Amino acid sequence: MRAHERFLKYILFDTQSDDRSETVPSTEKQKALGQALLQELQELGATDAQMDENGYVYATVPATKGHEDRPVLALVAHMDTALDMSGKDVKPRIVENYDGGDILLNEALSIVTRTADFPDLKKYIGQDIIVTDGTTLLGADDKAGIAEIMTAAEQMLAGAYPHPEVRIVFTPDEEIGRGVEHIDMGKVNAKYGYTIDGEEIGQLEYENFNAASAEVIFHGVSVHTGSAFGILKNAQLMAMEFHAMLPPMENPAATRDRMGFYHLNTMEGKVEKTVLTYILRDHDADKLQQRKELMRRAAAYMNEKYGEGTVEIRLQDSYRNMYEKIMPEHKELIEYARDAIRAAGVTPIEDPIRGGTDGATLSYMGLPCPNLGTGGHACHGRNEFIPIQSMDKAVEILKNLIERFA
Ligand SMILES: [Zn+2]
Repeated sequence: MRAHERFLKYILFDTQSDDRSETVPSTEKQKALGQALLQELQELGATDAQMDENGYVYATVPATKGHEDRPVLALVAHMDTALDMSGKDVKPRIVENYDGGDILLNEALSIVTRTADFPDLKKYIGQDIIVTDGTTLLGADDKAGIAEIMTAAEQMLAGAYPHPEVRIVFTPDEEIGRGVEHIDMGKVNAKYGYTIDGEEIGQLEYENFNAASAEVIFHGVSVHTGSAFGILKNAQLMAMEFHAMLPPMENPAATRDRMGFYHLNTMEGKVEKTVLTYILRDHDADKLQQRKELMRRAAAYMNEKYGEGTVEIRLQDSYRNMYEKIMPEHKELIEYARDAIRAAGVTPIEDPIRGGTDGATLSYMGLPCPNLGTGGHACHGRNEFIPIQSMDKAVEILKNLIERFA
């Protein structure tokens, strides 16, 4: 079966996660897809196939004869879809032999995917592109990854090429940042892995941000403005003074590539009390430390000026750059992937991620885990699309890659 045929079945399941839910998985409906995947894995002949009570699906493709001593490789994808847009009642359509023009998704609602907004479309002239009817997202993020892994598993289990033992892991709740929170590393039990997620075909990601957050609280003194002379301390003005001490160009709108930033996320204030929250990002771990230090110094300076206890600052680390866990120790993960992509006739795209991935967290849990693109585009929205040929390429890249580990 080709990957897109599987994909068209998986997207019939609504698997949207829910960040307000406290259950695991966050939505019970994700388990319906998990159950279907479990059954399919069993039918394909995978061993140890199981879904645990948290909705994680695990299965094993046993090594080909003579390759049992090779390290176990994990392939990871997520089952849930984003909160930004509904994934219920997805009505996919295949635009065959795409002509390079705008794509009318929904005539009645006048929803169009314009090449002016999505210039990547032009790369796929002559290909067959799966789109939505404009009322939902498509779910290529990340059901394309699941379909591609499944198709590779089918080929391996049919003995199509030599491979090591491969562990398949499908996780819930990636989109709400809890994708690996309840993962059982004992069941993963692999030396290294790849997440198959993200966008364009050929994408190879192994660098992401180091991340921290800050909460800065300003305590003021509120009195009647008529008799405020020498007494009033306006917490809002102090917050503005604090923010002005941060480098003005180091914000998300003025940075790209490997440039880090301070992002003022929320601002809530009255004269008596004002709270600013920030996220801090940098690919370079030392530079992230310097950002934290600058914020601490700014707070200390203001406490000296306005009195001890005026400013409180709470800094917290969130996630770290997987690069440190992959390079230089496991650089073959990158070299093999690069070769596998090239061997499929695709040019590797190696941009640092300006965010985090489950693979980054897994890398720090002992499973070095770069990411490979699925071929999808414009994820999380109604204009999401994926070329069928990119899905076939992704399966070919997986084959080329797995063979290198055999
Ligand atoms: Zn994803």
